[in-house]
Amino acid sequence: MRSLRQLGWGTLRLRLTLWYVLIVGLSLLIFSGYLYLQLERSLIAQTDVELRLAYAQAVADLEDEDGNNPGSFPNTEDYQNIARHLSQASFGVRIITSQGKVVDGFGKYRELPTWVPQVSGYATVTAGRTDWRLYSNQIKTGNRLSVYWLQVGQSLSSVKEILASLYEQILLGLPLVLLLTGLGGLFLASRALRPINRITQTAQAISANDLTRRIGYQGSADEVGRLAITFDRMLNRLQAAFNRERRFTADASHELRTPLTAIKGRISVTLSRARTALEYENTLLALEHEVDRLIRLSTDLLFLARLEQGFLRFSRSTLVLSDLLDTILEQAQPLAEMRHITLIEDIASGLSIYGDLDCLIRLFLNLLDNAIKYTPVGGEITVQATAQGSNICVAISDTGPGISPEHLPHLFERFYRVEADRSRSTGGAGLGLAIAWEIAYAHGGTLSVQSQLGAGTTFTVRLPVDG
Ligand code: ADP
Repeated sequence: MRSLRQLGWGTLRLRLTLWYVLIVGLSLLIFSGYLYLQLERSLIAQTDVELRLAYAQAVADLEDEDGNNPGSFPNTEDYQNIARHLSQASFGVRIITSQGKVVDGFGKYRELPTWVPQVSGYATVTAGRTDWRLYSNQIKTGNRLSVYWLQVGQSLSSVKEILASLYEQILLGLPLVLLLTGLGGLFLASRALRPINRITQTAQAISANDLTRRIGYQGSADEVGRLAITFDRMLNRLQAAFNRERRFTADASHELRTPLTAIKGRISVTLSRARTALEYENTLLALEHEVDRLIRLSTDLLFLARLEQGFLRFSRSTLVLSDLLDTILEQAQPLAEMRHITLIEDIASGLSIYGDLDCLIRLFLNLLDNAIKYTPVGGEITVQATAQGSNICVAISDTGPGISPEHLPHLFERFYRVEADRSRSTGGAGLGLAIAWEIAYAHGGTLSVQSQLGAGTTFTVRLPVDG
């Protein structure tokens, strides 16, 4: 036997339809029950009004001059007219004693069930298969010792018939309505879930090697539309991340290969013939330089990987930022002097921040290092630090060549270097700014850049005071 799933009954579709039918069924059942009870009440209330009217007619002219009832119905022509009229309207009217003995009556009074009331009022009494509605009231007689009741009754069979017919209609109509509801529910659920099927098919067709496919939903921006759009956006992000990872692997291999090829070449040349001790020493010094570069590269990569995966343990404390920047500038001073670059300090005093000392030194040193590296001889570098609300803003501006706008959006990507620097074998690997950005981000801050070709560049670090 084929399972429901094989039959194409997406279980959600089936579940939605069943829930729908169940809720409609329950609502209809409650509503029908309410309707039934309401109708029963109002039909009985209507019978009661009729009984009351019949009673009023039956009791009229029953009393003698003293206001007493004789214990039987008068034999006058007027009263016989009333009796005939009430009999035709299928009432039973009788006078009974407190022991239930029928003294007199007319209409269907013989069919009325024997029932002696305790108090005046209405009652429903069952006799055999028929229900009767009775209205009883005590009547005064000349004889104080005997108590008489005047009772007017009517069969409730017509009420029962109306109710039975309603019950039948409910019983027949309910399954029909539920069937229609089920079909309607199925249609609605299929319609609503159709775009989801398309999303599923697209998701199934997407493999790690082809992240270019999109759902391209064209319908209205309802819940399903938003799901499709969110899915497409997620694919965009995944594709971007995937491309970044691929580029990263290619760049990292390339950066590792360059020094390794240089080392290999140097060793081959040195080994090609016998060398003097001085020549061997020179070769080793050259190799040391390349190995240093490799160590720097792998340390940077490790740092970035740990930072990104959250494995890096920060030892945060409250730091006086003004003092920290002073120390970093002091360290950079000799390098700047060598290139006749003027370092200008504009640091507000008493700025403090909650962060990791080593990481923050690394962040500012990277930026200052770049500024010195790219500022021509005789240029100027300004380090400005100010408090801006709950943030501290540090701007490092130089009078270097500037960076053209097309590079700015990629500057903080790993291994990204401006074209002109790529050919330089002495330059960094393009990780400095990526590391600086990650450190600022890990401290809840931002790193941004403004640059104008020929005028200089400003890197701005914005860090929250509380880290
Ligand atoms: P690297 O370690 O190779 O310098 P970075 O990530 O620090 O790499 O910098 C990436 C690129 O940004 C560099 O190749 C350089 O062209 C550019 N750059 C960084 N700082 C400056 C600056 N102050 N002025 C001009 N260009 C800069």
